[in-house]
Amino acid sequence: MTTADVYEVLVVKYGTRQARRSEVFLNYPIYGEPDAPIGMDYFFWVVRNRQRTVVIDTGFSAHGGAVRGRTTLIEPSTAFAMVGVDPSDAPPVIITHAHYDHIGNLDLFPASEVIIAREEYEFWAGSQARHPQFHHSVEDTELEVLFAAGRDGRVRMFDGRTAFAPGIDVIAVGGHTPGQSMVTVNTTEGVILLASDAIHYVEEFERGMPFAFLASTVDTYAAFDLVRQMLAAGDVAHLITGHDPQTLRRLEEAGAVPLPDRPELAGLAVRIGHVD
Ligand SMILES: [Zn+2]
Repeated sequence: MTTADVYEVLVVKYGTRQARRSEVFLNYPIYGEPDAPIGMDYFFWVVRNRQRTVVIDTGFSAHGGAVRGRTTLIEPSTAFAMVGVDPSDAPPVIITHAHYDHIGNLDLFPASEVIIAREEYEFWAGSQARHPQFHHSVEDTELEVLFAAGRDGRVRMFDGRTAFAPGIDVIAVGGHTPGQSMVTVNTTEGVILLASDAIHYVEEFERGMPFAFLASTVDTYAAFDLVRQMLAAGDVAHLITGHDPQTLRRLEEAGAVPLPDRPELAGLAVRIGHVD
C-alpha cells in the first residue's frame, strides 16, 4: 500500500547528556523524592513517502551543544545525509519550537520552506525573548537564520493547527514555549504523535511533572491533557516524546526497526511505519 497520505517516520538520536532529576523537572522538591541522575537524549525526525520528505527539527549545532556541555553522538548534518535527506532538494522543515536543540542546523536548509507556529516565531522576534529564563535556551545567531528565512519569504506560519500535507498535521499547544508544536503523522502503524518538547519524558507526561524550562505551566498541563484525550480517543497509536532516553527501545518494542542499510546508525535511529 502506497498512498500519498501514509509515511514512514525516522527517529534519529544525535546527542545525549547526563542530568539530574532536579535539573529537568520543574520545582522538583515539591515531589519529595530523592534527586538522582537522569539521561536526556536529543532527536530529530524525518517523515517521508514517495511523494514527499519532511524534516522535523534540525538538532543542536556544534556551538549550541558545546557551550551547554552536550555530547554529540553523530553530527546532524552527517545523520541527515545518512538517512537520505539532501538539503539541495529543499525538503520542507517543520520547526516544533525555536530552542537551540531544535533549530541549530537550520542553515543546512537554505532553500527550504520552514513551517512554524506564528506565536513561536513572533515570541522569539519580540522583546520577551531577551529575558534569561527564555534566552537561556536559544542562540541569537540561530534565531537570525530563522528570521532571515522569514525575510526571504520562506517561512509559513500557522495559527493553532494546520493540515500541512495529507496525513501530516501540525498542532500548536504552547506550554514549553509560546508556540510549541506537535506533529501527527499517518503511518502503517497508525497515527504517530511527535510531541517534541510538549512532552520531554514519558514520566513527565504520565506523572504530570512539567519540564524545568517553560513559558506556561498551565498550557503545559493543557497539552498533556490534549495528548491524553488523543490517546484515549484512539486518534493516536504511538506517542514519541522529545528527549526520553527510552524512546528508541520503546519504539523497537512497538515494532520500529533499525535502518537496514545503515549499520553506522545502529542504536541511533529507527524507522516506524513503512512505504512500499
Ligand atoms: Zn528540546
